[in-house]
This record gives sequence, structure tokens and C-alpha cells, in this order.
Amino acid sequence: MSMNTQGRPTTPGAATGSLGSGPAALLPAEPLLFEIGDRDHSGVDLPDIEVPEDRLGGLRRKSELDLPGLTEPEAMRHYVRLSRRNYSIDSGMYPLGSCTMKHNPRLNEKMARLPGFADIHPLQPVSTVSGALGVMAELSHWLMELTNTAAVALSPKAGAHGELCGMMAIKAAHAAKGQGHRKIVLVPESAHGTNPATAAFLGYSVKSIDANDNGTVDVEAVKAALSGDVAAIMLTNPNTCGLFESQIIEIAAAVHEAGAYFYCDGANFNAIMGVVRPGDLGIDAMHINLHKTFSTPHGGGGPGAGPVVLSEALAPFAPVPFLRKDGEGIDLVEHVEGSAFGRLTAFHGQMGMYVRALTYMLSHGADGLAQAARDAVLNANYLKARLEDLFSAPFNGQPVMHEALFDDEFLKGTGVSTLDFAKAMIDEGFHPMTMYFPLVVHGAMLIEPTESESLQTLDAFVMTMRELAEDARSGNAERFTSAPTRAPLRRLDETRAARQPRLKWIAPDDALEAAQ
Ligand SMILES: *Cc1c(COP(=O)(O)O)cnc(C)c1O
Repeated sequence: MSMNTQGRPTTPGAATGSLGSGPAALLPAEPLLFEIGDRDHSGVDLPDIEVPEDRLGGLRRKSELDLPGLTEPEAMRHYVRLSRRNYSIDSGMYPLGSCTMKHNPRLNEKMARLPGFADIHPLQPVSTVSGALGVMAELSHWLMELTNTAAVALSPKAGAHGELCGMMAIKAAHAAKGQGHRKIVLVPESAHGTNPATAAFLGYSVKSIDANDNGTVDVEAVKAALSGDVAAIMLTNPNTCGLFESQIIEIAAAVHEAGAYFYCDGANFNAIMGVVRPGDLGIDAMHINLHKTFSTPHGGGGPGAGPVVLSEALAPFAPVPFLRKDGEGIDLVEHVEGSAFGRLTAFHGQMGMYVRALTYMLSHGADGLAQAARDAVLNANYLKARLEDLFSAPFNGQPVMHEALFDDEFLKGTGVSTLDFAKAMIDEGFHPMTMYFPLVVHGAMLIEPTESESLQTLDAFVMTMRELAEDARSGNAERFTSAPTRAPLRRLDETRAARQPRLKWIAPDDALEAAQ
């Protein structure tokens, strides 16, 4: 197998899409469009253009554009072949813990494609988009109702962006009270990496809080860390071990007593929506991932949306734009004199996601949302119950919320790591669970089935997981360390791919020239 200029293996026959040697499941590498097409061909015949000499001043291109010429079927097949390599929630169970990879109902898609939503432009006069504003207002209403909070900023475009928004509101609120000297943010060690990153990005220093033996945060540990220099705590509930923070009310009281704010990471809201209102627990700000809890597509499938709900205390520090009931109508407020930090995004955020999320809410109804949360919890506990005799669970003895957490204790002495185990799952047709997160557990395996998986699918998953665990423990390490053998590509240098991505195609002659 030779390497092309991109450092990817080139399989014989790759360009035509025929199979090379090796197992049938081992698909050939898909060449780039630049490698399929060439500069001398084109998919269309265009007449020579007669443009008056040069109306571009000195800006006219001097070099060739260097795009590959392709026919329509060549281009289409390339993308369809690539799409068939994707493992997606539409093709199978996707048990990534903390990610809530649930089914995206097609009704949501149908609504988002209604021309009245799909074809509007953010610069249209506000008077022509009252229907869209109505959707935003109704979504806002539901989000505040489900969380019992006073305000919501819809515009953040991801969970992490929502964290930034909420923490900026907290920073502005402290500044307004003359408390700008508060420079510490408390973050439990089980937190998602975005929490400390957000705090650090805003110039805070992060103080870590240890989890107790039950995998939750102790109110006494929080009290010990609180002081007049603490601006906020960022706590996830349910937390990333899949556990409900049982002392959350006491923690909120202690945080407020110390003059700090309570930021809650609500990415795991799926486990409690319609059952618990975070506002009742004393939170001041919380982002909600529409792309997790409310079933809008995520991962490679769509943009995220991370609205932030705010308590009475933080509501005045919300970013623009926001909606205000104005008599009978809804007013879009885009400019506020002395606004804490203006806007977070251009325009109004991810309109398509608002339509999808509201469709999900309305089609479930209040009782249906609570049912979805309860079913998600039931499914996670079912998996835990059926696996825990073979797998090792770090915080055993307590029921979980929406996800089941295991560690690598059961693999001790087998020569198989969590990573090897996950790769072997790929050979069995399952997407791996979340690995090595949360960091509080050694070799973590975090499994979140969500409510949208059937009992049959869960049972098939359990059977596969049990068979793999038994095989690992019977000494068949080779199956795991050599996996995956049935995927298009084997083990990748994922760190290098993330740190040094190759985003530009270099023509072979240029590469050759550069090398010489
Ligand atoms: C997903 C997630 C986030 C970040 O959300 P993004 O939309 O990926 O930015 C933050 N915290 C937790 C616990 C999460 O699961």
C-alpha cells in the first residue's frame, strides 16, 4: 500500500470505487475530488465569455483557479460514497455518554423546511417575520417554563457558547455590584472540559473541587472553597458520572450566601426535563443544548444551539437581541442603552434549530417530555443492571440518571485497554461509548442510550458488550489490540489529526517541487 501526497493510504482501484484486496468490508480509501478530476476536463460546456477587458482594476486573478474538473456523476458518487462511511444515529445506536445522541424526528425536519421559515433572511424587515418571532417567543416560554427561570438568551450557538454567555452575564453582574475583584470560579473535577475553559477564557482562575466517594460534589467541600474572591461555581446536574447532585440545593444556598452565582451546566437536561425545574434548585444560569435534549441534529449533522436561561438576578445582564411582549405583538429588542455585553452572534442564532426544538416540544407535550426523560433514565439503568456483573462500576449501589458509567477495573491484567475495547465494538457494528471521560474514573466508559432506543436494540447492545467483556477476560487480547479490522480505516493517529489537520490539497507537481 503506497501513500499519496496527503499521507493517506492509496488502495488499488480506489479512483473507480472498486474493491482492492483484503476483506470485503475493508473499503478502499476514497480519493479527494482533486484526485478524481483534473484540470483539463469539465462537467459543463460554457460558451467563451466576452467580458470587456479588465474592470477589476489590479484585482484580476493572475494564476489558474486550479479546481478539478468533474462530471456530475463523478462528483455525486464521491459524496454519496463518503456519506455511506458515516456511522450515524440514523443507521444505528450511538451510545456516546454526555452527548445525548437521540433520534431526530423527521417531523422536526419537515417543519424547519416550511418555506416561511426556511426562506426568510435575517435582514428582512422585522414586520415581515412575525411568525418566526412567534416561534422564538414560544420556544423561550417553554424553556423558561421547564426551568422556572426569568429570562432566556436564545442566540448562543453551542453548549460551550452558552457557558460563555452565562458566565459573561455573571461577570457583568459582579461588575455592576462593584464585585469585579472576584476572580475565582469553582469547578468540580468531573466537569466537562468546556467549563474550566470558559472560566479561564474570561480571565478567571479555576479552582477544582474533588468529588466524594459517591461521585458527587459535597456541600462541605464547596463551603471550604468559597470566599469573597469566588465569582461563581460551575456545576453539572445531572453530573457527568450520570448522577444527580443530591446536595445541589444546599450547594446553591452556600454559593449565594458567599455572594457568588451558580452556573449550572445543563447539557444533561435530558434526564430531568419536565421532572425537575433547575430554577427550583437555586441555579442562576444554565445552558440547554437543543442539539442534545431537544433532538435537533448534532455532531456533523447540524449546527448546535445552546440557549441560556437566567435567574431574576441575572436577567438584566442578558445579551441582545431578546424578545419583549409589546401589547398584542412581540417586539425584537436589538439595542439596549448600556447593555452588559451587546450581542454574542450575528443576527438571532440558529433559527432552524428553534423550529426543530419547538416542534419536538409541541409534539411531545408537557407529559411527553417528562416521559422521554423518565424513559432515558430507565434505559440507562437497564443497561447498568444488565452489565454490572461483568463490567466494573465505580460508584456502585446507586441508581443512575441518563447514563451508566464503568471503569477499566474489569480489564485489569487482560492486556486490553478501554481504547482497544471501544475499537472492538466498531467491528461488532456499534459506535463506541464515550471513553476516558469523566476524568475522575480510570479508563472511563460512559454509556448513554437515550430514550429513543428500543428494548431489542438495548438487548443486542448488551449481548455484544457481554460477549466482548467475556472474550477480553478469557485472554483473547489480540482481537482487541488489532481492532478494528472491519472498518474502512484501522487505527488512526487521532491526536495528530486534531493537532495538525491537513486542510489544503497540494497538487502533486507542487508537492514534488517543494520537496526538491
Ligand atoms: C456537550 C456538553 C457540553 C458542550 O456542549 P457543546 O454544544 O458541544 O459546546 C458541555 N457540558 C456537557 C456536560 C456536555 O455534555
